[in-house]
Amino acid sequence: METPNAKGVNSGEVSSEIILSQARYSRYNPTSDKFTATPEKYPQGRFKDKPCRTCGEIFSPIAPSHLHCSDDCSLNSQSERYLQRTYGIGLSDYDAMIKDQNHRCKICGGEGFVMAKHHKMKLVVDHCHTSGAVRGLLCHNCNRALGLMQDDTSSLERAIEYLEGATTIPQGSRVK
Ligand SMILES: [Zn+2]
Ligand SMILES: [Zn+2]
Repeated sequence: METPNAKGVNSGEVSSEIILSQARYSRYNPTSDKFTATPEKYPQGRFKDKPCRTCGEIFSPIAPSHLHCSDDCSLNSQSERYLQRTYGIGLSDYDAMIKDQNHRCKICGGEGFVMAKHHKMKLVVDHCHTSGAVRGLLCHNCNRALGLMQDDTSSLERAIEYLEGATTIPQGSRVK
């Protein structure tokens, strides 16, 4: 079992701003659906209180495998692990980046959007496919646009020239 890296996690603040990228996040389920063990099966009739793995607050687990005091803390823990595993950054890094960007996409300036209702992350981590380095946070569209143009700055420049110089061919043509 993986040990969540809770470094720099501040459950209150981070939980409202964080995020997850979501394709890999489908494992997330609300706590209530996740556990089937019942305290009655245990001699003491309840599970021992323990500190939340994310925020450290003492809580009463509803199962021995219950590690977090709330769905937010559970989500933050998974976000932390996802970001560490995928980009080598933590929630605190993401939090600093999104604040620095004023919660806006670095290309279009929009606030972004989620790809599915249960997702929280409006801006995704953009990284260089050659070096692997994180470049910034972008909305899904801008991130995909860069990917589709293969990060090729010459192509992107020519795309701008093309758009600015576009004329209707043949004269007066129009998509119906
Ligand atoms: Zn907690
Ligand atoms: Zn954008």
